[in-house]
Amino acid sequence: MKHDRILVWFRNDLRVHDHAVLSTAIEKGLEIFPVFCFDPRMFRESKLGLSKTGEFRAKFLLEAVDNLRENLRILGADLVVLQGLPEKEVVDLAISIQANAIFFSEEVTLEEKQVEEDLEQYAWKNGIATESFWQSTLYNVQDLPFPVTQTPEVFTHFRKDCEKLSQIRKTFPTPTNIPYPELEIQKGALPDLSTFGLREMPKDKRAVLEFKGGEDEAKKRLQAYFWDNDCLKVYKETRNGLLGADYSSKFSPWLALGCISPRYIFEEVLRYEREVKKNQSTYWLVFELIWRDYFRFICKKHGSKVFKLSGIKNHVDSWSQDEQIFASWTAGKTGIPFVDANMRELNQTGFMSNRGRQIVASFLVNDLGINWTWGAAYFERMLIDYDVCSNWGNWMYVAGVGNDPRENRYFNILRQATNYDPKGRYVRHWIPELEKIEGFDIHQPFELSTKALKQLGINPGHTYPHPVVKIPVV
Ligand SMILES: Cc1cc2nc3c(=O)[nH]c(=O)nc-3n(C[C@H](O)[C@H](O)[C@H](O)COP(=O)(O)OP(=O)(O)OC[C@H]3O[C@@H](n4cnc5c(N)ncnc54)[C@H](O)[C@@H]3O)c2cc1C
Repeated sequence: MKHDRILVWFRNDLRVHDHAVLSTAIEKGLEIFPVFCFDPRMFRESKLGLSKTGEFRAKFLLEAVDNLRENLRILGADLVVLQGLPEKEVVDLAISIQANAIFFSEEVTLEEKQVEEDLEQYAWKNGIATESFWQSTLYNVQDLPFPVTQTPEVFTHFRKDCEKLSQIRKTFPTPTNIPYPELEIQKGALPDLSTFGLREMPKDKRAVLEFKGGEDEAKKRLQAYFWDNDCLKVYKETRNGLLGADYSSKFSPWLALGCISPRYIFEEVLRYEREVKKNQSTYWLVFELIWRDYFRFICKKHGSKVFKLSGIKNHVDSWSQDEQIFASWTAGKTGIPFVDANMRELNQTGFMSNRGRQIVASFLVNDLGINWTWGAAYFERMLIDYDVCSNWGNWMYVAGVGNDPRENRYFNILRQATNYDPKGRYVRHWIPELEKIEGFDIHQPFELSTKALKQLGINPGHTYPHPVVKIPVV
């Protein structure tokens, strides 16, 4: 059915390329009216007293919305920016501009689904049609070779079935023009960090990358990583790195807000394979994007269970609720340098490598035995690339209450250090107070005598903490 006027509600899909909602709206509507709504619930405190969105992601989001507005303007449209509950504000706006329909991207998790339902009901009561679209994954939900409720619990089964029996759809072309109505309506200024009670964090020169939100920056990053720096062909060998911009793609913050589409990345991988090289590394980036898909479908399948302590396995275990030890973990002051270095990177920059995330999560869960949902909530606040499904899915996995056929995914910290930071360069980068300790010893100051440490200007328990727990030797 052709609509006269469609309101396109942007959510975690802040781009104009490969945009199912925008492209279909242009096909089905005579006029398109794009809107974004800042939802105050995104910034409220969770049960731990942590706000759900911290400084790094909030800034990145503001930049992404700003860039979306610019890109919509280039296409002849604009973006109305609202603040409030989308299920009310977006519908009220649709009523006031006499839109016939609201189009939006479908999400999968509890709070987001509730917003969708409430919006649909309110719109329906006011005679406004709604239509939601699947996007954000490589494989479309409709193309899965099984009903989503039967998504395999083991990643390898999921991946193999998808690779064998399904196909990744082509990207939608970027629109060349958006038919935009001439309406006397306030477009709304973009809020700033202080609106959400946040302030800008100082830049840290040690950060892996200066992340800036928006579709343009996402494409620039892909251009640099794939084409200018030619890193894709060695991705599989470098992806467990810890230092520098190019050990991994760093696409995650842009993927999380939909500034870049995974199918666009996939098509660029195929082009790279045609024009430069095809090898295990080029495949591996797609493999990792399939992990991302997997957690999204698992969240859709299991609903609110993914946020529960017992996880999707309904596995009841006893967890410590020691707030003081948890605070030492969040602050990067556990006295275990490899853990502390990663947590300090997160606190100073909003980013942490995949290797680092696995190490600090395993440490919290296995060495400290602390409630894993606290760790997930802390990551939710701090990560610049927080993605509800990837975060809670990975945490469940590490905590042994998610989808892992293997029991006890224990990471021996010192063995990890031997494999991934043998000379201690990463720890030296983030914990300057230990920098004088040479070589691998920086990973185990607790093995050195107080006298030896004092000679290096380190006063254990004062300039660097004693370990909160004894960790196994390599
Ligand atoms: C405890 C824990 C929490 C995590 N929380 C998040 C999160 O909130 N948001 C998030 O995007 N990723 C999360 N990850 C997954 C992973 O660590 C990051 O996606 C990755 O480090 C981002 O860096 P990159 O873009 O350079 O990754 P690359 O290695 O370049 O990978 C390319 C893309 O593949 C996807 N990907 C890679 N590994 C994973 C994975 N294990 N699970 C899901 N997708 C993956 C990401 O979209 C990533 O951008 C988490 C992992 C752990 C262990």
